[in-house]
Amino acid sequence: MAEAETTKERLEWAIAVCRERGLRRTRAMEELLLALIAADRPRTLAELCGLESLSEQCDKATVYRLLGRLQEKGVIRRLGLHERAAYYAFAYPGEHFDYLVCTDCGKIEALDLECPVETLEKEVMNRTGFSGLYHELEFFGSCPQCVG
Ligand SMILES: [Zn+2]
Ligand SMILES: [Zn+2]
Repeated sequence: MAEAETTKERLEWAIAVCRERGLRRTRAMEELLLALIAADRPRTLAELCGLESLSEQCDKATVYRLLGRLQEKGVIRRLGLHERAAYYAFAYPGEHFDYLVCTDCGKIEALDLECPVETLEKEVMNRTGFSGLYHELEFFGSCPQCVG
């Protein structure tokens, strides 16, 4: 599948979900979603506001409000230890990342390992009859910068 197609599909999915749940599409919303789709790891509000595509569209308060709404509609996820160190990630169905969280500086990284829980998930579904299981894993510790 071509990269551009995937981005487009993800964007269309998110916009359709938002519309269904009463959130109208705007240019700023589209730019914000595109930025999160393109991101290889969760992004902070400051990082998102620093993007040219977004700073041309709106101010920080607007981006923050928009992030809250998108989260409410379930198309993005908020991660992190507290409000001041919040990170945002796109939440496409059937896809997830597991994360490493530094408890000293609040930094978050996506865990670059094959997910260890997927096999367990299947087993849980088989044993319990639950369907549509999903999970998010967060590992907490000190990052190399904080230890070094
Ligand atoms: Zn750290
Ligand atoms: Zn996982």
